[in-house]
Amino acid sequence: MRTRLVMGNWKMNGDLQANQALLSTIVRTVQAEPSIYQKGQIVVCPPFPYLAQAAQSLVDSSVELGAQDVSVATSGAYTGEVSASMLKDFACQWVIVGHSERRAYHGESSEVVAEKAKVAMTNGLTPVVCVGESLSEREAGRTLAIIDEQLKPVLALGSAVLAKLVIAYEPVWAIGTGLTATPEQAQEVHAFIRGQLTAAGVGHVQILYGGSVKANNAKSLFAMPDIDGALVGGAALNAEEFLAIAAA
Ligand code: PEP
Repeated sequence: MRTRLVMGNWKMNGDLQANQALLSTIVRTVQAEPSIYQKGQIVVCPPFPYLAQAAQSLVDSSVELGAQDVSVATSGAYTGEVSASMLKDFACQWVIVGHSERRAYHGESSEVVAEKAKVAMTNGLTPVVCVGESLSEREAGRTLAIIDEQLKPVLALGSAVLAKLVIAYEPVWAIGTGLTATPEQAQEVHAFIRGQLTAAGVGHVQILYGGSVKANNAKSLFAMPDIDGALVGGAALNAEEFLAIAAA
């Protein structure tokens, strides 16, 4: 039985005051209604400077902390980078790697993404590896070929690493656009990913869907057999909306 997972990717949003309000509402609500919110796992991923604030707010909460990226290096002359051990120092248990915004704006290749997943895993963090096709790739009928290409270096990491990661399918055309893949479109890709994972001996790995998930579409997405939860962007900045997705 795969457990449900809902992760909030705050991206480069927030400030001390707004974060505090968001975190307090999430923590309070999850604590007050364990039968709704503690059946699965909820994770929040603030920007790096706010990890300490979030870690403090989440002490004694079932809500866990994640980061939005990690360096492939362990320490040294890598200006602007943050290592996996630094994330561990701030109580992170999760890290997103290969988000389409990192791939697009920072030129991260699928090989670098796989390396980040390995470094995260080696340091005791659960990597959430994002894959997804662009609109032109979908329109050209290349969706599954693109997912296959992006997954290849990750699958090559071997079952010891694969057993401990999460995959997030995030069609680029659905991220922040208000366009969501239909449950059937998402399921088709999730089933393909599940097939690849099963062939690699790790069919139990959770596969999240991401791309304009909202309270009003979460239930139908989560009803699909290979969708184990969501990676939520914009809607994760609104406590009520995020909690409604988690409740779904
Ligand atoms: C994301 O950035 O991972 C994401 C899914 O964003 P949104 O929910 O805003 O589409």
